[in-house]
Amino acid sequence: MGQPPDPQLTKRPDHTDGGSAHQTASDVSATDLAMMERAIALAAQAARRAEVPVGAVVYKGDRIIAEAANNREAAQDPVGHAELLAMSKAGKALGNWRLTDCTLAVTLEPCPMCAGAMVNARLGRVIYGADDPKAGACRTLFRIPTDERLNHRVRVISGVLADQCQKQLREFFGRRRS
Ligand SMILES: [Zn+2]
Repeated sequence: MGQPPDPQLTKRPDHTDGGSAHQTASDVSATDLAMMERAIALAAQAARRAEVPVGAVVYKGDRIIAEAANNREAAQDPVGHAELLAMSKAGKALGNWRLTDCTLAVTLEPCPMCAGAMVNARLGRVIYGADDPKAGACRTLFRIPTDERLNHRVRVISGVLADQCQKQLREFFGRRRS
């Protein structure tokens, strides 16, 4: 909270990917930014529990349906990723596994597992912060949400408050090494 709302909005032409389902951070609304800030706060809480700081919020309009942070260590759960947990909770909260009208905000680019779950959930849209060069499946290594061969396309917006998200991850891994 409190930082200028749009440090990402004027740059990153590299996030324009041609494909119509990929959009730039200039397509984000004030609600999107507020949701990403909430995801960043959830990620910070995870870091204090010695979890890799990734936070996720599922929302519809400006209403939060569900939220979660990475919980892999505490639950010793290989699928305990923030976005998977948030989508699972959202399905229960809505009484509907189809998250068609929902957006998922997540601080780190989703991995193949979570990107696959987003397609299976018929998610409307995902916005994420930091690219993940080692596991990113929305833009970096794979483009699962926008793959035309799959039965559903999820709109992707990358680079939303990316600097804050990256800083959070860098600080966490820096502390772990020291
Ligand atoms: Zn994941």
